[in-house]
Amino acid sequence: MTCWICNNAEASTKEHIIKKSDIKRAFGGGSYNGDNAPVHVKKGTIKPIQGANSKFLKYSESLCQYCNGAFTQPFDFAYDIFIEFVYENESSILRKRCIDFTEIYGEKCEDGLVNLYKYFAKSFGCRLVDAGEPVPNDVRELLYEKTFKTGLRLSFSVNEDILILPSEHRDGFIGKGGLLAWLDKDHNGKAIGYQWSEHVSWLLVSFWYNVHPDGNLGSTWVADNQFVYLGCTLPLNDEQREYGKNKVKELSNTPVKRNAK
Ligand SMILES: [Zn+2]
Repeated sequence: MTCWICNNAEASTKEHIIKKSDIKRAFGGGSYNGDNAPVHVKKGTIKPIQGANSKFLKYSESLCQYCNGAFTQPFDFAYDIFIEFVYENESSILRKRCIDFTEIYGEKCEDGLVNLYKYFAKSFGCRLVDAGEPVPNDVRELLYEKTFKTGLRLSFSVNEDILILPSEHRDGFIGKGGLLAWLDKDHNGKAIGYQWSEHVSWLLVSFWYNVHPDGNLGSTWVADNQFVYLGCTLPLNDEQREYGKNKVKELSNTPVKRNAK
């Protein structure tokens, strides 16, 4: 298989489905064991994760060494800074429901947000390849450009149902949503649009490729604005939410048992 970014070299490296630094931040470097060890859940199947390099956390090979390394390193770096900032400034972000990228990247804001956007574009491309879908040319080409036009829009929102959880539990809630495709009935059912999401704790990042974004999920962003306004999502129904709240209350009222000496 050829690398989907350069379209040239042999794909020999696997991109992490869930970023290694996200796993490490939430669970430490590993190896993981015991009751609080992370598990990987995919389509209802639960697999224990031994370390941040677990094969369950990687796609199959789709990138060459250079494209998965030196070329995209600035994108990964911009993402790490971004997510670090979100964790550290959680309460003020949740109060304002807005992220100001100048607070994250300072004077290098313009480069920072373009690189952050490219991180998400790469993530989206890897997901498409994994699903056997072609990566749209505009998504591939923008990785090489400073300014670009693309059909891929992002939005950021707060998962209010995850906020019910105490922070030590929600920090480990990291993953990706299902990939939805819009098919063109006139062209042999070829996909013409996609919707996807990934989440870290309460932060949900939604991807809209050639489909109309849901405004409830925040202002749309294409690295074109120093501000992004957060939308909100409530994936649970009332009954599930009540159950969750009671469960959290129950757990916080349960005295911690200690072994008698
Ligand atoms: Zn390559």
